[in-house]
Amino acid sequence: MSGETVTLKLDDVKTIAKAALMAAGADNANAEAITHTVWMAERDGCASHGLFRIPGYCGSLRSGKVNGTARPRLERSAPSVLWVDGDGGYSPIAHKSMLDDFAELVHAQGVALAAVTNTFHFAALWPEVEMLSKRGLAAIACTSYKPTVAPHGGSRPLFGTNPLAFSWPRPEGDPVTFDQASATMARGDIQIHARDGKPVPLGVGIDKAGSETRDPNAILDGGAQLAFGGYKGSSIAMMVELLAGPLLGENLSLEAAETDIEDGGPARGGEFILAFDPAKTRQPSKSGGNAERLFQAMLAQEGVRLPGEGRLRRRAEVARNGVVIPRSLMAQIEV
Ligand code: NDP
Repeated sequence: MSGETVTLKLDDVKTIAKAALMAAGADNANAEAITHTVWMAERDGCASHGLFRIPGYCGSLRSGKVNGTARPRLERSAPSVLWVDGDGGYSPIAHKSMLDDFAELVHAQGVALAAVTNTFHFAALWPEVEMLSKRGLAAIACTSYKPTVAPHGGSRPLFGTNPLAFSWPRPEGDPVTFDQASATMARGDIQIHARDGKPVPLGVGIDKAGSETRDPNAILDGGAQLAFGGYKGSSIAMMVELLAGPLLGENLSLEAAETDIEDGGPARGGEFILAFDPAKTRQPSKSGGNAERLFQAMLAQEGVRLPGEGRLRRRAEVARNGVVIPRSLMAQIEV
């Protein structure tokens, strides 16, 4: 432990997060669900979605924007479409309420969509897709946010950071999972750079005059983030807007911002989760073993690793070293 940081055991993360959430108005079920999500982020070394998020979660509980006693409702609108009304709560309680039923539906139908609405997503997306892959399914999820990213060629925020996650089941071991913002850098990471007084790489964002900058504060205060890969990432950000918004009858990022009260938490939105059961989608004569062939061929090249392996490596590091957070954050969340 240094003067500036505090080192926690993983179990302490649960105790601290749950106490803060319950003090801010979450009931036991909602606090447990959010705590588990925050704990998974810290377990896997994803600081930007761990305890760092607790002040934001609590801010929106205290303001009453997010329902801390949410009881999500499920409904089938078509044989392979599961509607999930999140009851105005945070996404972890919606996931907890739907993932078992949804996985069963995908196994039965071969392909199914979970249309998650009336919810507030403030987390990484890999937990939901990875959990589906642990049940033998391939899954894609995406959600929008608030305007933060300029469309390619533009200079004002319009798209959210719009993460897209994908997971593929393996016969043995952990699924192969990637989870990436459509923005070059997740907003939480830019905030952490600002907090720590560190510059971001070029290509992450522009200032309010539209010039590229390495100053995280200039990007966050009046500037805009940029999509990864220029116009290609910009099109993916647009696709995420459409899949998580209009397709589900939910907000675009720009609409989410119109009703948001800026209390530190996320804006209301939807989440699109599409999953496939390879046992139903592939030809009966095929084993699907060529997925493993692809992974082995990738790994045969020096310098290549599979997405998700970094997270597993960070998991092992956290298990050895504990969770290190700034003392200032600890002071903000400890009740
Ligand atoms: P990163 O750029 O850190 O990583 C994106 C993906 O690329 C990860 O799956 C990562 O796997 C993989 N990856 C990284 N390096 C390599 C490599 N050398 N070889 C192969 N794969 C690699 O993530 P982002 O900054 O884009 O996003 C961070 C998080 O923010 C995401 O979890 C996202 O869901 C979340 N987010 C949430 C939002 C919300 O509204 N809820 C909004 C925006 C973002 P690995 O983990 O193994 O390194």
